[in-house]
Amino acid sequence: MERQVPIDFVDERLNKGLARTGLRFTAQRRHIYSKLLEKGDHPSADEVFMRAKSDMPDLSMATVYNTLDTLVKCGLVRQVNHERGPTRYCSNMEKHHHFHCTTCNGVFDIRSDPESGEPEIHMPPGFEVLQFEILFRGICPECAAKQAAEANA
Ligand SMILES: [Zn+2]
Ligand SMILES: [Zn+2]
Repeated sequence: MERQVPIDFVDERLNKGLARTGLRFTAQRRHIYSKLLEKGDHPSADEVFMRAKSDMPDLSMATVYNTLDTLVKCGLVRQVNHERGPTRYCSNMEKHHHFHCTTCNGVFDIRSDPESGEPEIHMPPGFEVLQFEILFRGICPECAAKQAAEANA
């Protein structure tokens, strides 16, 4: 899933997001944001730290937490929470839901209806939806294949 993210693209998005909150552009914010976009996966803060520290050795865990917080406030990253395990961070801001594999703990993006992005749920009158998220829990194809292979062994 690794991809080259042009630094201009990172800067443009980051500048736009930061402008909304009045926070300033820093090398750390740029570095951490580009690390998230590069993989497009759902790392925990610890994983972001490990990844970002490899080419920014003086980075501290506190900076990573603060930066992730800032990116969430800027609307560039969203938090994904599961009942178990740490918060994960998702840099895909297109409408989508998450699938949590309970075997490998992987988190996968599930695209929703590109037309409306709305799930077919009947909302009782008087409830105004501002945000929604559907969390699927189950087994991913890789784990399912592994289990099938083990069952046949
Ligand atoms: Zn899995
Ligand atoms: Zn996601």
